[in-house]
Amino acid sequence: MTGSSKKNKFDNRSVYDHKEILDYKKRFVKHLAQTVPGEKEMIVVEAKDCAIKTAEGLPCLDMISGIAVANVGHSHPEVVDAVKRQMEKFAHVNVYGRFTLIPQVEIAERLASVSPGDLDVAFLTSTGTEANEGALKLARKYTGRPGFVAFERSFHGRTFGSLSVSWRKEWREPFEPLLEKVSFVPFDDLNAADQAIGNETAAVIVEPIQGEGGVRIPSNDFLPGLRKLCDERGVLLICDEVQGAMGRAGYWFSCQHWNVIPDIITLAKSLGGGLPLGAILSTEKIFSTFLDPPLSHLTTFGGNPVSCAAAIAAFDVIQKEDLLEKTKELGKYLNERLLSAQREFPDLVTEIRGMGLWYAFDVTPKKITLPLVKEMQSRGVIVGSMLNSEGTIRIAPPLLVRPAEIDAFIGVLKASLRTLKRHKSEN
Ligand code: PMP
Repeated sequence: MTGSSKKNKFDNRSVYDHKEILDYKKRFVKHLAQTVPGEKEMIVVEAKDCAIKTAEGLPCLDMISGIAVANVGHSHPEVVDAVKRQMEKFAHVNVYGRFTLIPQVEIAERLASVSPGDLDVAFLTSTGTEANEGALKLARKYTGRPGFVAFERSFHGRTFGSLSVSWRKEWREPFEPLLEKVSFVPFDDLNAADQAIGNETAAVIVEPIQGEGGVRIPSNDFLPGLRKLCDERGVLLICDEVQGAMGRAGYWFSCQHWNVIPDIITLAKSLGGGLPLGAILSTEKIFSTFLDPPLSHLTTFGGNPVSCAAAIAAFDVIQKEDLLEKTKELGKYLNERLLSAQREFPDLVTEIRGMGLWYAFDVTPKKITLPLVKEMQSRGVIVGSMLNSEGTIRIAPPLLVRPAEIDAFIGVLKASLRTLKRHKSEN
């Protein structure tokens, strides 16, 4: 069937023939702006629990949760039900903050009940980058200072503010001028942070565990040390938990591993149970700066009631099913199984890092990263590479993943490494 004859037809079939699949891919490239060159990947027709089904009818095990979004799995029945019920009542009614919306109260209270210290006020957004934009504005306004300290390998988003504090030069430079007075210092280096923090610093922004940087866990004195430095200099500490919150590392917020209380936490991704929702968490005192002048910060869709309903359901699943503790336990199993792959292929798998169900491993040579991802996908397992860590494979399955699924993933990983090794020796 050609593009034009199908143009306005949306159908709900789940299996397509080869010609139709190629046709959809062509139309995707023609009508959706592309930021990655090359051939398009599979067409998704359904995603449930830990599996994604393709238009060819193949089930794939999703070992990255749509990049740390599907912490309670794809389309969790309780999330689906909550979304349907809220949608039948109302979706959008007015910009964030005008009317009192019960789903917003319910999710903000839940977050306050598990957040560290007195971070019991939330500003709701739609995305992670938007949460970080708000956090940077908040820090500038509250301290009256312009500068930020950020870290090498950091990733905070792609809008102007969050891009300014994100490390990869190639993605920043074409869009300059960005925010001025941003310094990047090596992650896990307190001395460097100490030197970079100055009289003009409003905030230090840090991912307590770096996500896109390759799931890098700092030494135990790093986050508490940053807290101390910030306290001494009157600088705010912003923890970007966009990837690390909602149980990913076995905690509601990964900073809780070190018992550190930041001034501001940002989150998004898994918060909305699959729907777009982000949040800035801070104290009433710090947020009061947005009252002067009134409307200093606002968004149309932030805290969308349907997204909030999904978030409430996802939050309750995490709590009811004790997923934080289960994640810690299952993480140990994942680590053991990854180590067994490393023992079998020590020449290909060099380092394994992780906490909870948030893992990464480095491969050598780096150029086998994408072939490995592709080989695993052809065998029905989805993993991925990382934005700021060349030669690294990401693993972040839904927190409801079963040990048997971890075993299946490891089986595919080993078979794929075997294939790559054979190709290497043949070439
Ligand atoms: N912060 C971190 C730590 C992230 O990993 C990401 C996304 N990968 C973002 C911010 C940006 O989030 P979003 O894509 O929702 O804007």
